[in-house]
Amino acid sequence: MKRRRTAAAAAALLAALATSACTAGDGAGGGAPGPQAARRQAGPPGSPVDRAERARRTQALRAAAAAKWGLDRVPLVAPPPPAAKPELTTRAGFEVAGHDTLPPVFTTVPVTERVVFLTIDDGREKDPELLRMMSELQIPYSSFLSDYLISDDYPYFQEMRDRGTALHNHTLNHRYMPGLDYAAQKREICGQQDRLARRYGQRPPLFRPPYGNYNQDTLRAAKACGIKAVPLWAAEAFPDRMEWREWDRDLHPGDIILTHFRGTDEWDGTMPDMIRQVMRTVTEKGYAVARLEDYV
Ligand SMILES: [Zn+2]
Repeated sequence: MKRRRTAAAAAALLAALATSACTAGDGAGGGAPGPQAARRQAGPPGSPVDRAERARRTQALRAAAAAKWGLDRVPLVAPPPPAAKPELTTRAGFEVAGHDTLPPVFTTVPVTERVVFLTIDDGREKDPELLRMMSELQIPYSSFLSDYLISDDYPYFQEMRDRGTALHNHTLNHRYMPGLDYAAQKREICGQQDRLARRYGQRPPLFRPPYGNYNQDTLRAAKACGIKAVPLWAAEAFPDRMEWREWDRDLHPGDIILTHFRGTDEWDGTMPDMIRQVMRTVTEKGYAVARLEDYV
């Protein structure tokens, strides 16, 4: 009962803040007294007072969103994106013959800041709550999509893209790539590039092989299809737990977190439950989620 009242109050505050944030950011002044008053209070656009006021509003918005969506802590804000993207190399032990001429395969982006990256794979579950939740919390993530799982609802991912999430390649049919010859792998990867370009207007630069399995043909085919990099993952998130690749079972700066578009039929919780779990871990450990495309 208390929880519901808190959530309702947070939702009301969120709505109020969202409205004031919109009107304050509205440059061309109308005649309405509301926006003018807001602008006067915030100082001239771009001034220190204005920036401080905006930062305060943004933080209040995040706190309200965190309360509304049941997060124990307010997610930390990622630092501004780097001026230059870090140089990526293939992780030791993940090489194939000739790897230095092929798209790099990595599980962690080489950064020093306490940021991690959230990536969501496949596309079977299409929960509208996830889109709202991530927008209101302003948590960036990247999607790796397999056509056979998204083809029954392309518009869901169109809306995701419109909200600022990049849609990347996870093959047409989610096959075990090392089991296919070069030509078949190329059809799986280039075919998905074509499909994503036709549906969403962009050929993505990133590719993740199903199950994280690949061989030299996979990386050669990916390169031929215009892929620039192959991000794998350092940790995997579920609604009830994290699974770790590293022996220390911890997060590290630049770690890529994998999770999936899954519903309650496949795991014990909803997409928002999974996000609550992973954000608890990320925030408690002092990390912010940054946008993968700002670094890779
Ligand atoms: Zn997958």
